[in-house]
Amino acid sequence: MTGASCAFSLAHYRELLEAAKAGGYRFVGFDRPPEPGDLVVRHDVDLSLDAAVRMAEVEAEAGVSSTWFLMTRSVFYNLLSEEGERALARLRELGGRIAHHAVWPRVDLDERFEPVVAWHNPSRDYQTAPIDGATNAMSPPWYDPPRFRTDSNQNWRHRDLPGHCPHAELARGELDWLHVNVHPEIWVYHGRTMRETMEAFLAAERQLRLEQLRADRIDLS
Ligand SMILES: [Zn+2]
Ligand SMILES: [Zn+2]
Repeated sequence: MTGASCAFSLAHYRELLEAAKAGGYRFVGFDRPPEPGDLVVRHDVDLSLDAAVRMAEVEAEAGVSSTWFLMTRSVFYNLLSEEGERALARLRELGGRIAHHAVWPRVDLDERFEPVVAWHNPSRDYQTAPIDGATNAMSPPWYDPPRFRTDSNQNWRHRDLPGHCPHAELARGELDWLHVNVHPEIWVYHGRTMRETMEAFLAAERQLRLEQLRADRIDLS
């Protein structure tokens, strides 16, 4: 399998994790500057806590952990709902670190989070700027363009290697360290394009919403 044709699926995510383990990488968080041999896996959870939990289960099975950046002001999920609190507890239980995916300019850091922030859909003006009282995950030394990849919109982004999945280089231990941003929804729901993946996500959400309506004593007969 080449880097360019890798599937966005939980099966391939598991292969990516195994590749990193085979390459000798340590899975670390944002509590210290990155060192050679480090793999900083971060997840910006934009759409679905369910998808985050499913991906965290794959990480736990592989014996690795990552940092989950959760939103307090998402239009797609409510971290303060019972379901949201359950998902956060489950991510912790599976070994995940919890950080904050903030919507500019508001930072809602509290005891739920490590003092680490990544902005949601940032503009270049503030993406990498320091944040009072917190680590900005997209500031140096964690953000170093040659050592950063993101799967945004189902397309691996990298300064020099656009569209290129990093699993093969990880397996060979070629990268001294890497910070990778993996959006769980893209790997949990399936589609050849981001549009198709989002249609699959919406179909799952519809089922979830129907269950929530029933739980809310709405008559669906
Ligand atoms: Zn791959
Ligand atoms: Zn985001």
